[in-house]
Amino acid sequence: RCAVLWFRRDLRLADHPALLAAADRADTVLALYVLDERLIGPAGAPRLAFNYRCLRALDEQLGGRLLVVRGDPVDVVPALARACGAASVHISADTAPYGRERDAAVAKALGGDLVATGSPYAVTPGRVRKQDGTPYRVFTPFSRAWLQHGWRGPAATDVAITRWVDPANLDVERAAIPADPDLGGVELPDAGEEAALAAWRRFRADGLADYDERRDRPDVDGTSMLSPYLRWGCVHPRTLLADLGSDPGATSFRNELAWREFHADVLWHRPDTARRNYDERFDALWWQPGPDAESLFDTWREGRTGYPIVDAGMRQLLHHGWMHNRVRMVVASFLVKDLHVPWQWGARHFMRHLVDGDLASNQLNWQWVAGSGTDAAPYFRIFNPTTQGQKFDPVGDYVRAHVPELRGIAGKAVHEPWRLSEAERGDYPLPIVDHAVERQEALRRYGEHVTRR
Ligand code: FAD
Repeated sequence: RCAVLWFRRDLRLADHPALLAAADRADTVLALYVLDERLIGPAGAPRLAFNYRCLRALDEQLGGRLLVVRGDPVDVVPALARACGAASVHISADTAPYGRERDAAVAKALGGDLVATGSPYAVTPGRVRKQDGTPYRVFTPFSRAWLQHGWRGPAATDVAITRWVDPANLDVERAAIPADPDLGGVELPDAGEEAALAAWRRFRADGLADYDERRDRPDVDGTSMLSPYLRWGCVHPRTLLADLGSDPGATSFRNELAWREFHADVLWHRPDTARRNYDERFDALWWQPGPDAESLFDTWREGRTGYPIVDAGMRQLLHHGWMHNRVRMVVASFLVKDLHVPWQWGARHFMRHLVDGDLASNQLNWQWVAGSGTDAAPYFRIFNPTTQGQKFDPVGDYVRAHVPELRGIAGKAVHEPWRLSEAERGDYPLPIVDHAVERQEALRRYGEHVTRR
């Protein structure tokens, strides 16, 4: 008897409950991945290339026995299940809007078993609830309840005893794992499960103890850089959580993983928030972007706003497919509150360029910054891009690393290039807007459209 293990956001073999479930029910397991145009279409080059590299790594781990096919999963998955005579198809649950609809349609088409075991989260979204059964709207009580709910230890997946079906023996049209799309020079981290575990070992040894103090500093390598691996499930968060003690570094890291779980939980309860404001009072705020919104947006995308920390972040995104969390918050606030551009525009740009682009984390962090989400930073708390730069990039190394025009400026003077002479500033632009003025304008719009309702 055969079972199908349909891989999606779980591109690993260790700590894989769905693999355990498949191996438990059948003598042999067919490893399947479906190239689904509806997911490939909107993804940017860094995320796609990383996805394909993870698939190559997985195929290697499986001795070339990963069956890759192209098509609509609703047609393809049942056809393959028939082709190998499978009694059941196994998945890790996908809890984002498209994945949920797709899986419901596949289950219906299969007419039999689509068995979901586990999810990309320590606690499956939807499980942690208030005593009255309603979802949490605020992070801190959610994270407390999440900790209390707890999770199982990592699943001991014995891959060695799994007998994988060799797809060469099946009469099916096999697709190649696509070549990388043009990355335009963006360098990606090593892909796959082994690389993920190596990154985790490195971070545990060198970064975790100081994480609490260094995580907000974009000028130092103070964070784990695990986000692309978590995005594709090269490592399960439970594997990480099982290694964490109770010192400040570990506690702080656990708290960040809790944010990831919180946003997934919010999206599970409110799939509409992938596109729309969680708090609908904010709909009025951006209902009509100003006439110069397009050109301001372009300047922001290119990293030519004249605010060094914003430009450094936007260029890090373009050239590395990644941006430091503190700077993600600063550039997002700048777009929404200084340039008065809808958060959805910025979120789309991030999803196109981030190697870790993840619908729940991205859309809900954008909303958190914009003030329209759950437990959001209040709209009137507006980041000052200059003081943020001075505080979190105190000697200006982050700016100099990403903005070559400012490389000759020593120390923290790099955060206020408008104070320098034209010769010193060179090609670097003057600020496109005056933060103090736009801050007032943001508050005015907020007062007019949001609070008076
Ligand atoms: P670490 O500091 O080492 O954190 C460890 C892990 O915790 C991360 O890998 C991530 O999985 C999780 N995490 C940390 N902070 C957050 C957070 N605020 N929200 C959710 N999870 C978090 N993260 C994504 O994975 N994908 C996105 O598309 C994404 N978009 C974002 C957009 C905006 C506007 C903002 C402000 C944040 C966004 N984040 C996103 C969250 C965060 O910036 C990244 O997870 C983090 O920078 C990844 O780097 P790291 O792995 O070194 O993080």
